[in-house]
Amino acid sequence: MYHLKPVLSGLPLDALAEILKPLPKFRAEQVFQWIARGVSSFQAMTNLALPLREDLERRFSLYSSVIAGRVADPDGTVKLYIRLHDGERIEAVLLSDGEGRKTACLSTQAGCPLACVFCKTGTRGLTRNLDSGEIFEQFLHLRSVEPEIANIVFMGMGEPLLNLPELRKALEALTDGRGLGLSKRRITLSTSGIIAGIRNLAAAGPAVGLALSLTTGDSNLRSRLMPVTLSNPLPYLKDVLYDYQQQQGRRITLEAVLLGGINTRQEDSDALAAFASGLEVMVNLIPWNPVEGMTFEGQALREPSGREITGYIQRLEQRGLKVTRRLRKGLGIAGACGQLGPPGGFKAHEGP
Ligand code: SF4
Repeated sequence: MYHLKPVLSGLPLDALAEILKPLPKFRAEQVFQWIARGVSSFQAMTNLALPLREDLERRFSLYSSVIAGRVADPDGTVKLYIRLHDGERIEAVLLSDGEGRKTACLSTQAGCPLACVFCKTGTRGLTRNLDSGEIFEQFLHLRSVEPEIANIVFMGMGEPLLNLPELRKALEALTDGRGLGLSKRRITLSTSGIIAGIRNLAAAGPAVGLALSLTTGDSNLRSRLMPVTLSNPLPYLKDVLYDYQQQQGRRITLEAVLLGGINTRQEDSDALAAFASGLEVMVNLIPWNPVEGMTFEGQALREPSGREITGYIQRLEQRGLKVTRRLRKGLGIAGACGQLGPPGGFKAHEGP
């Protein structure tokens, strides 16, 4: 199913006003507000005259994606399968923490080119970048399941900083006070460490929270686990994070997926602590969520043992670092971090 008509969702208000010209700006604002409410058709835009609604319907599409399936875990996690206009499928996940706070975990690419060894999405390769409407609509789809979503994390499928122009547009549409008005402080972008992207974000915003999937501070091991390290070396990455922090004044989250027997050693926690020194960070540890058939250098990946996890946490805390351990959510529906993707298909970033 290909779209022949331009799609209006996910456009920043200025771009929407431009595409709707010669309609006056206040009309664009009305359409923008209706889209933020998630109306199902132009016909529902009751403050527009009927002939105008019909004209818009002839010339434009409101949305470009549909919910193709939904699975729910008893722990409150809900995963949506979303079908895009060209038949591609992506996933978006709704997470609830112990205090009932709801977070939308969104994707930015169909697949991912970066091939981190612990990630199911990475096994699939990149199909294409999502456009701003496809990113924005994931939020609307999740909100149709749960009206009170407080936070957004870009930790779903794909590397957000490899799709920054479209992500920026989607963020502008999501945070505009004339529409959804979501707070930038409640939005976090998780990256595998794309130096040029972080630099770009520091210079031109938006000032959202930044999380780095560090995994280990040992450059050699990290290059083997996350090949993106080869073109984005850790010392340069640290410099650029430092600049980002100076610019944005926000604490950075360092995430580490713990892989049993691989990056839970003393030298890994030491290297992580060394990487963190001089930065203001919170460390978020993510015990690896099992995905069958995934290997590293011929060895099957396994979950870390309780002892490996507590030892790692203790060593970091002894060095004065603030550490949280991510609760496991959505395991039963393959909606946890590292598990996104169709059977035999893709994953997500180091999502919650
Ligand atoms: S962890 Fe993130 S960057 Fe790495 S392959 Fe998965 S989606 Fe891509």
